[in-house]
Amino acid sequence: MIIFWLVLFFAVGACVGSFINVVADRLPQGKSIVSPPSHCSECQRRISAFDNIPIISYLWLRGRCRYCHSRIPQRLFWVELGTAILFAFLVWHYGLSWELALIALYCCLFITLLLIDLEHGIIPNKIVYPAMIFALAIAGLGSIFGFEPGDIVGRGFRLWIVDSAVGGVIGLALLLLPALFYRGGMGWGDIKLAALIGFIAGFPLVILAIFLAVIIGGLVAGILLLLKLKGRKDAIPFGPFLSAAAMVTLFWGGNIINLLFPS
Ligand SMILES: [Zn+2]
Repeated sequence: MIIFWLVLFFAVGACVGSFINVVADRLPQGKSIVSPPSHCSECQRRISAFDNIPIISYLWLRGRCRYCHSRIPQRLFWVELGTAILFAFLVWHYGLSWELALIALYCCLFITLLLIDLEHGIIPNKIVYPAMIFALAIAGLGSIFGFEPGDIVGRGFRLWIVDSAVGGVIGLALLLLPALFYRGGMGWGDIKLAALIGFIAGFPLVILAIFLAVIIGGLVAGILLLLKLKGRKDAIPFGPFLSAAAMVTLFWGGNIINLLFPS
């Protein structure tokens, strides 16, 4: 039976990844997400449903437009495949539960923010502010109705309005202070993103998320410098590392804290 769910969630994830691609392409340009329908960015020909099947169509068309043979960005394929694998992982990790729905939604949010920051160097308010309100509302509902999310509690992630609000303030403060003292390091986008992660993951997990982001970011920056893919003066955005670290924290935050501070 688990095979059925893995395959189903893989397929759903591929479609969701396809949608994330559209949002990441259109939202920074201020375009509508629903219209016009998918079209080739070179020849503007509309892409038929048959050529718009996530993952498969890219392979079938060998990464090129059917009509003008211009290259389809590889990112479209990797995001579809990555989200498909992630969704299969989520159903395996959480089982069929409401945690699964909530964490899947947050993952979509972080993947979208990661892509937009990587490609455009911005963290759009249009996504961050509504997400903050949503995260606080979910934490508020969790407090009122006393959700007992077994899995999430097991991982150190509680849905409680105080945790959420304190987490947001700590996330904001942890990035605001270095931004004030070392000019040019951190942008407002990163600070708002850290606050959002705080509202979602709550206290104390927000501290772990930022700590992980610094470590992953440092490692990747070191590797890029060593391979001479980036120079010392190139800016490497911090937002994508925050988004990636937030997802890792949502999945394994409690386990990592138990490892670091065995009781
Ligand atoms: Zn074309």
